[in-house]
Amino acid sequence: MPPEPPIGPYVRLPPDVLPWDPRTAEVASAVAALIHERRPDLVVEHIGSTAVEGLPGKGIVDIDVATTPEDLPAVVATLTDLGFGPQPGPDPWPPTRPMLVGSMVRGDTTFRIHCHVQPGTDELTRDLAFRDALRADPELIRAYADLKAGIVEGGLIEGHQYTYQKEAWISEVQRRLGVHRPPLTPPATIGILGGGQLGRMLALAARAMGYRIAVLDPDPRCPAAAVADTIVVGGYDDVGAALRLAERSDVVTYELEHVASEVVDELDARLPVRPGRVPLLVTQDRLAERRFAESVGAEVAPWREVRSTDDLRAAATDLGLPLRLKVVTGGYDGRGQIRLADDDDIAAAFDRLGRVPGDALLAEAELAFEAELSVVVARGFDGRMATFPISRNAHDQGILSESVAPAPVASEVAECARTLGERLALAMGLVGTLTAELFLMPDGRLIVNELAPRVHNSGHWTIEGAATSQFEQHIRAICGLALGSTDALSPTAIVNLLGSGPARAARLDPDGVGAALADPAVHLHVYDKRRVFERRKMGHVTALDTTTDAALTRARAAAAHLHWEDGA
Ligand code: ADP
Ligand code: MG
Repeated sequence: MPPEPPIGPYVRLPPDVLPWDPRTAEVASAVAALIHERRPDLVVEHIGSTAVEGLPGKGIVDIDVATTPEDLPAVVATLTDLGFGPQPGPDPWPPTRPMLVGSMVRGDTTFRIHCHVQPGTDELTRDLAFRDALRADPELIRAYADLKAGIVEGGLIEGHQYTYQKEAWISEVQRRLGVHRPPLTPPATIGILGGGQLGRMLALAARAMGYRIAVLDPDPRCPAAAVADTIVVGGYDDVGAALRLAERSDVVTYELEHVASEVVDELDARLPVRPGRVPLLVTQDRLAERRFAESVGAEVAPWREVRSTDDLRAAATDLGLPLRLKVVTGGYDGRGQIRLADDDDIAAAFDRLGRVPGDALLAEAELAFEAELSVVVARGFDGRMATFPISRNAHDQGILSESVAPAPVASEVAECARTLGERLALAMGLVGTLTAELFLMPDGRLIVNELAPRVHNSGHWTIEGAATSQFEQHIRAICGLALGSTDALSPTAIVNLLGSGPARAARLDPDGVGAALADPAVHLHVYDKRRVFERRKMGHVTALDTTTDAALTRARAAAAHLHWEDGA
């Protein structure tokens, strides 16, 4: 039998704040000695809370090992030989800067160890500066200890969420110490997965700031093409195309959540993907999204996962009719979902959604909401958040038709929506923008309907109506810049321009454009889609006025003038 490795197995535990234990320092020295026996050349440092005498924490011994990208696999092999294992859980560090985990027994206690392997010295420098500042300053220790105690008392208690909550405070200390992470500045290249209207408006905002743009889209003449430096033609599941995008980019973001998980994993191993891998995975699957929302204490409509007509009948009995039945992945703008009002609807449901028994679907109660609201939150690289005033939205057969902001709702409702959005963004560890679509119930409760880790149609009002647009805000967040003001400049309304009639080349009737813009408070946005068809999102108009009602009246009047010409 091979001898037991010196490093023992790892156990995941919910974070709990414990007093500092001097034995953690012994563990750290023992680990460093084990590594140095095999690799005397490596820099190994004890960092994190256990490295600061007197600082309470989770009691985990954090170790930084700094190496080079080329040497990283050899270091990982050495640590694996010692008994370290891969990081468990849904949100591991990428293979370019992995964290290995293990444990060591001292006395009656098993100490858990996180070994961070860094492909350079940047992180190490920041970690050491933070550690040494704490070691030198009892006031700072006290402030940090209070922060931790507050987080644990607050009840958000999954390991990552604990870490995310500390980020803003730690970043601020690092900024004061002069060791904060440098932002990505122009003319860096931003890669965007998806070149639809959201990609186009992101690219326009990024371009205004001097960034360069690379876009991946299956259509070389997609809406973002006109404002991109490079188009990589490929589907959202094409790993090869995504890697070509990565070669040209310094950071990658996405305008849609329907990106294959293999694509995100491959990108995440090479460069920053923001808002992140986890935000994408928990929002691209409606079942995962429901579970995630519930896990952070957000309310969702009563739901069931169904895989057969019998499941569906049982769901109807439990939840009542009417039900909304939704495909788990790939639905948008009301596509991929149907309303079930009676037994006949239930019998035909799988067929109508193009699914067969065995496929998972989401069945949920149809809610008699008072209004649909949405909240767009931005979270920066340093953990700071900024939230736009909420929008009130109207849908027509599942597709957004109109939106006004700041929503004319009670200030407590707006405040609840903001807190809810920020809680969700934090729990995902998101860097960028998150939109939460909410139902406001007659009793004032807010129910999460859908989450999108991106800019959103209901945030288009911010282009003219807010101090910073959602697009600029997203770019600032993913590049590590400070967030802009989210103040509303005016009550604002948008009305979407949807296609109608047979599929044909898209050309607006010129007289209509003239008439719409005769109102000086109106702004026109056209996405330059080559073809128009029934209910396709082609553009939007925005109007500003002294009330959202007045703005909406003007936006509607302008939209009513706009028509797509008949033609070939
Ligand atoms: P999509 O991805 O197409 O936006 P949503 O789940 O947001 O899908 O549904 C689109 C619209 O359908 C919602 O904005 C809302 O108007 C309506 N809807 C969806 N689910 C429900 C529900 N459970 N109860 C009432 N209306 C719903
Ligand atoms: Mg929706």
